[in-house]
Amino acid sequence: MPGKILHVCTGLPWFKNLVFKIPVIFSMKQCFTNIKTLDIYCMPSTSKRLRCFTESVIRGMTRLSNKYNAVNLSQGFPDFDPPRELLDELARCVYNGPHQYAVTWGAPRFRMALAEKQSRFMGIPIDPDENIVVTCGSTEAMMVAMMTACDPGDKVIIFSPFYENYGADTILSGAVPIYVELRPPGFSFDPAELRKAFEQRPKALVLCNPSNPSGKVFTPEELKLIADLAMEFDTYVLTDEVYEHIVYSPWKHSYIASIPGMFERTISCSSLSKTYSITGWRLGYIIAPRNIIDEARKVHDFLTVGAPAPLQEAAVTALKLPDSYYLKLQSEYTAKRNLFLSYLDRAGLSYTKPQGAYYVMVDITDMGWKCDKEYCEWLVKEIGVAAVPSSSFFSTPVTNLIRFHFAKKEETLIAAGERLLKL
Ligand code: GLN
Repeated sequence: MPGKILHVCTGLPWFKNLVFKIPVIFSMKQCFTNIKTLDIYCMPSTSKRLRCFTESVIRGMTRLSNKYNAVNLSQGFPDFDPPRELLDELARCVYNGPHQYAVTWGAPRFRMALAEKQSRFMGIPIDPDENIVVTCGSTEAMMVAMMTACDPGDKVIIFSPFYENYGADTILSGAVPIYVELRPPGFSFDPAELRKAFEQRPKALVLCNPSNPSGKVFTPEELKLIADLAMEFDTYVLTDEVYEHIVYSPWKHSYIASIPGMFERTISCSSLSKTYSITGWRLGYIIAPRNIIDEARKVHDFLTVGAPAPLQEAAVTALKLPDSYYLKLQSEYTAKRNLFLSYLDRAGLSYTKPQGAYYVMVDITDMGWKCDKEYCEWLVKEIGVAAVPSSSFFSTPVTNLIRFHFAKKEETLIAAGERLLKL
């Protein structure tokens, strides 16, 4: 017994939920005689993997923003409605169903509409029955992709800064991250550093394109370089392309799966969340060759069984929207980006102009704060705007950047902008 950790519960009403952990330095018998009012019991420890990461800082900032009634530019989600057609269709599905499980790997009508749309944009034939698994958001898609590709101990290349989830996904699937830097302010990578990472024989590389949080859009040349290395070293590429339709001219999104030879080794993950402003519907998907999909279906089946059936049914309407919808989305987001950046300019803040996605990284070096976390806490309490401290996106100790998102109504961006002018 001595040397172990005991979990001690007081049993007193006002301390009812308190469990203390104390090191055992005396015997159980002594404990009972010495601390008569306490219940003492031993508990197994929880998974060691979970000690390697914290809860999401992004979602924590949303809670803080709500607490202080701030304008929430931290967790990236819109405050405007999805397309009207989609809402009408959802209302119809509420009464007509379906309300029971869909096919585990996705409702047939949803997969058909998705295959048609993605074949059109990706420029490759996608079979609705062979190449798709519908998941609960791209969050599940990425986790499924990681667990499908990797065994415990496998290495995974992740570009840093990176969206928080990839670190946790890697650890949860037992894999080991190798980070390759995207260097601010331009967020480009050094091809020699990337090659070195590939020389460690990783099983997979995670590619978020357009990139969260940096706003980088990988050029066709960069994608070709990554693809060549993936083929040379026999590595999977797991993409997160949820911002595929949010790209600012002259930048264009290219799908790495469309590069000859890459479809075979790419697990493309994306979702409807950002494209149709339905982050709460949790509709995501994986596109990959049949042999990978067969394995991914198993992981998905035992993780979640399936994505919500009525929402898949309603979302068919979104997937069938004409190309003009995506052009309009792009021009609306360009206007939002330009409006928010004009406030950052007026506030004298320096930032990297986003090429895609809806985030902007702002440099706080000149603001006189040493720590991005403390700065964000001050910003939310005193200025009334919530941002994310960028230290949670970097593998190295970077504390001079914070991330805002601008997927908000014009009036919300103006309200945030006016507050930021006080800086
Ligand atoms: N992708 C969004 C962000 O980075 C949030 C996604 C989420 O919280 N699931 O803020």
